Amino acid sequence: MPENSVICLKNIHKSFGDLKVLKGIDLQAHEHDVISIIGSSGSGKSTFLRCINLLETPTEGEIWITGEKLKLARNKKGDLDASDPRQLAAMRARVGFVFQNFNLWPHKTLLENIIEGPTQVLGKSKDEAIAYAEQLLRRVGLEERKDFYPSQISGGQQQRVAITRTLAMDPQLILFDEPTSALDPELVGEVLGVMRDLAGEGRTMLIVTHEMQFAREVSNKVMFLHQGQVEEFGHPDQVFGNPTSERCREFISSVY
Ligand code: ADP
Ligand code: MG
Repeated sequence: MPENSVICLKNIHKSFGDLKVLKGIDLQAHEHDVISIIGSSGSGKSTFLRCINLLETPTEGEIWITGEKLKLARNKKGDLDASDPRQLAAMRARVGFVFQNFNLWPHKTLLENIIEGPTQVLGKSKDEAIAYAEQLLRRVGLEERKDFYPSQISGGQQQRVAITRTLAMDPQLILFDEPTSALDPELVGEVLGVMRDLAGEGRTMLIVTHEMQFAREVSNKVMFLHQGQVEEFGHPDQVFGNPTSERCREFISSVY
């Protein structure tokens, strides 16, 4: 039932012109679910994740967030777009998104990056937002860097700040799109460590990742996408250890 899930996606389709990228995807996440989304490059993982908060407009489908159905109407391009901008803004405030390339504001300090959403979107006072940001930065070991600019810290640190920025909004769901793919190998572990802690706290997360060992250990469900369709879905032990789909088996043996 969409009413008691954190997120419920029904029959999501997305085409770019004649190219059908998503061909009817269903996914439901309940509180504390950590769902990894795997699949080869071009299978539609990013497009699917971006459809959830309408960074991409789906061609077909329903989106329910914390039991509330997102109001959609067909736009001129033939896609579904939010028909109630206030509802969309409220829903986006509940769904964090962590990008491959961090997407921090380069001209703002780390602290300014983190308090932007809480002050501008949630209407928190600056003092309150700063106190919370400092507390969250302490947890990821970056409090002393709060007045640095993104270019002055490593990619791993930037991604930890990007995750902190998301946490500052107290999201009910966090979407990660290959959060470690842009990092040098020696910086991957520190970001996965933070994500592991979030999973341990019971955060609800959807994670597009190529880190198979991490996905197997941290998630409770895994979705394998192939050419815009769910080809395999289940517990990580089953998907990684004994997949029913031959394509899933091939994919996993090619990346492990
Ligand atoms: P993945 O994240 O699994 O690598 P994507 O969702 O990025 O895959 O892309 C799936 C397909 O959609 C690819 O063929 C890609 O070229 C195409 N695609 C993605 N975004 C766009 C876009 N904005 N315009 C046209 N085609 C796109
Ligand atoms: Mg992608």
